[in-house]
Amino acid sequence: MRRFLLLSLTLSTLGFLVFLASVSLERGESDLLPRIELPTISEIINLELKSSKTCAKPKKYYLAEIDPRFGLTLAEAKGIVDTAAAHWEKAGSLDLFTETVDSGLPIRFVFDSRQAKTQSAQEFSDQLESIAQTYESLSLAYDTSLQNYDSRLSGYKNLVSAFEVERAIYQEAISAWNNGPRTNKNTYQELGQMKNSLDNDWLAIEEFEKNLRLLLASVENTRVALNEFVALYNDQISLYNDTYVANEPFEAGEYVHSGLNRSEILIYQFNSRSHLELVLTHEFGHSLGIGHLDNPAAVMNAMSFEQSIGEIVLTKDDVDALREACL
Ligand SMILES: [Zn+2]
Repeated sequence: MRRFLLLSLTLSTLGFLVFLASVSLERGESDLLPRIELPTISEIINLELKSSKTCAKPKKYYLAEIDPRFGLTLAEAKGIVDTAAAHWEKAGSLDLFTETVDSGLPIRFVFDSRQAKTQSAQEFSDQLESIAQTYESLSLAYDTSLQNYDSRLSGYKNLVSAFEVERAIYQEAISAWNNGPRTNKNTYQELGQMKNSLDNDWLAIEEFEKNLRLLLASVENTRVALNEFVALYNDQISLYNDTYVANEPFEAGEYVHSGLNRSEILIYQFNSRSHLELVLTHEFGHSLGIGHLDNPAAVMNAMSFEQSIGEIVLTKDDVDALREACL
């Protein structure tokens, strides 16, 4: 990119020289006119390069096209484009860009399989999120029902222990009655009451146990449902990873410089507004003549994996590269 830029400038400088030479020939030389010292070729090249440097005057840009399938309005996209341009201006304290209606560097949002895939990945990921939420609430319900079962079970055990104590007392009383004279009507009645009470207690224990079994069945159902969800979630996660994560990363944007004054920024893919801001900032960097940087955190790194998404921060390497481009 930069090699091409230099070449086109050299050509236009030569054109400029030819032009100067023809002017001086037409005029001819005269002693009455002061002699003009022509700058040497290298001086001209330097002058030309300086005046044509990226930062000499603000670069015009405009939002040329945005496919509605990106789901962004023109105004929203413009806002993000302007923010991206402003990152470089702020970092360099320079007036680098001017937004126009239809002149300068066009920015086009080109919708193709890349963004389509990103959006279906987003939908998939939302579904996974909803499965995970259902799992969370099922899991909570399971824990609660298990705790409930445990406390009911210990209540049941206490009831059974108390029953056994009462029954032992009753059996002792019965033995005493059988071994005794068996004549006291009061004792006989008391024994009858004890038996009735034990029978009632036993019925209550049976009812308690029946409810406990129902509760246990419901706990078990929740556990089965929970495990089914875990299996479903894991399947979906594998499918998601196979479909979207294991694939090769692709270009999210591109700065195309296809000839003199013919360049454009193409945006293909982003998965959030801050990601779009990062991609645009990266492509604006190219438009300033900045190439890729090795620093993985640099906005100008070729693979956008380690840069700060959320709040775009130009690293020192980015700013140094800007200074060099603007020298
Ligand atoms: Zn790049």
